[in-house]
Amino acid sequence: MLTPMTTTYRCPADGARAPVDAAPWCCPRCGGPWDLDFDAGSVQLAALPHRVDSLWRYAEALPLGPPSAGLGEGRTPLVALTPSVSAKLDFLMPTLSFKDRGAVMLVELARRLGPERVRRVIADSSGNAGTAVAAYCARAGLPCVVYVPEATSPKKTEQIRAHGARLERVAGDREATALAARAAADEPGTFYASHVHNPYFLHGTKTYVYELWEEYGGRLPETLALPVGNGTLLLGAALAVAELYGNGLIGERPALVAVQAEAVSPLATAFHAGADDLPPRRETATATAPTLAEGIAIPRPPRARQILRAVRDSGGTFLTVTENQLRAAQRDLAARGLFVEPTGVACWAAMSGWTDGPAVVPLCGAGAKTGLSA
Ligand SMILES: [Zn+2]
Repeated sequence: MLTPMTTTYRCPADGARAPVDAAPWCCPRCGGPWDLDFDAGSVQLAALPHRVDSLWRYAEALPLGPPSAGLGEGRTPLVALTPSVSAKLDFLMPTLSFKDRGAVMLVELARRLGPERVRRVIADSSGNAGTAVAAYCARAGLPCVVYVPEATSPKKTEQIRAHGARLERVAGDREATALAARAAADEPGTFYASHVHNPYFLHGTKTYVYELWEEYGGRLPETLALPVGNGTLLLGAALAVAELYGNGLIGERPALVAVQAEAVSPLATAFHAGADDLPPRRETATATAPTLAEGIAIPRPPRARQILRAVRDSGGTFLTVTENQLRAAQRDLAARGLFVEPTGVACWAAMSGWTDGPAVVPLCGAGAKTGLSA
């Protein structure tokens, strides 16, 4: 091990704990995802202009120091689309999606755990998280295997292969892919870079909100719209809001508006039914249909309970968008000069008519990853 890990994993469901350097990839008691026991320090706005021009400038708030194998991630631009809605261009990240924010954390963690503990990194993904993990593994010199559903966009699988990762295509849906990765995750020497189960990923995605806080001069817009499949950007955002508020760095907390594709919207359904979790699996009658928004087509997100609570506690809500709205939003953004993949336009599709106070939507994956949807 190269650097001692001073934090531990903690299960949000039952309080089980495990040291970061010797933990299984999920809670051994309930099989659920981990949280990280980590108290973010206070980031001072005045100190920032002199710092590195990447997400690593928020050093006090991050559980790892700067990576030896970074790619200049973070600090994406904010552009106004209407008087009320601005877009943060997270498709301008090194691998063209916001997942780089979390992937750099996971791969840096794997590197620090050392070659005796980590001989290979595996990830499962609908495409973009796997691409991001593959790229950072390439940068760090770590062997990588990425599991994807067989229907994943060819441009995404090409990007994964180009970074030297081994690609495993799995028959069936996104959940079948996750199960295949989990079966491999327990093999000795394997680090499972799960963007869903490993909380370091959320401590990376939270920098999305730290950047907004800096951009807005030490406050946040009234509303943050966030796409939700597994909820990794939304939960990262909620974490950042809690840290900034807890450290007295913001006086008002934004409402979190979660956006799902109507075709696969288990959380929106649960939220509007007043539920605090998804129904038990055997009762799940939630119909899912094919959707252009492949990156958020998650029928049973493991962090469902946390996502529902984060949105409810913020005073926000869930919105859903149809396939026609996704198509129209992609064309509308392209006509404004921004070419974004269908998953990445979901928040704009939901918020383009928004006229209440200031809101920010992420445009989180590049159009070049999928092409224009018919
Ligand atoms: Zn547990």
